[in-house]
Amino acid sequence: MPVDALTPRVHASRLPPAQYARNFCDAHPPLSLAQAKIESDRCYYCFDAPCQTACPTGIDVPSFIRRIADDNPRGAARTILESNPLGGMCAWVCPTEVLCEQACVRNTHEDKPVEIGLLQRYATDHLMAHPGAPLFSRAPATGRRVAVVGADGISHNEMEDAKPEHIAAGCNVLLHAMLERAGT
Ligand code: SF4
Repeated sequence: MPVDALTPRVHASRLPPAQYARNFCDAHPPLSLAQAKIESDRCYYCFDAPCQTACPTGIDVPSFIRRIADDNPRGAARTILESNPLGGMCAWVCPTEVLCEQACVRNTHEDKPVEIGLLQRYATDHLMAHPGAPLFSRAPATGRRVAVVGADGISHNEMEDAKPEHIAAGCNVLLHAMLERAGT
C-alpha cells in the first residue's frame, strides 16, 4: 500500500528530536585545524594530478591542498571556487569516493586516499565562517545573461558557464532553484 503524508499515523515529528539529530547528523564530521594540516601533508602534490582529472569541475586539487598545508584556507577556498562556484555545497554532497578520492595515488600503497572532500569542506566552511572581502570582483555589466536551472550537484555542467571568469566578465548569472538553499 502506498504511504504518503495523508496515510493515517504518518505525520511529521513522529520521531523524538534526538533521533532526528542522529539520523541527519554529518556522515563525516568536519576536520579540525590539526586534522586538516595532517591530512594536507599526506598529499604528494602530483604533477598531472589524477584527482583533478577525475573532478567533474576540474578543481586544482593539489593547489588548494597546498594552501591548506600553508595555513591559507581562504586561498584554498578561492582556488576551489575559481573552478566550481558551488564548491562549498559540493564539499558536503559530492561522491568523492568514486571521483577524486578514487583516483588518488595514495590508494596504491596505503589503500587510503587523501581526504579531498573533507579538505575541500574545511576550506569552504572556513570561508563561509569568515567571509571577509569578496573573493571575486565584477566587471561592468555587459548586458549578457546566463541562466542556470538547479542549484545542486547535477548543475555542474551548467555551472561551467557560470564560472567566476564569466561573472568577472560582466555577465549576470542567475541560479534558478526550487528550494531556498543551494544543494538542498
Ligand atoms: S592524487 Fe592524491 S596525492 Fe596526488 S595530488 Fe591528488 S590528492 Fe594529492
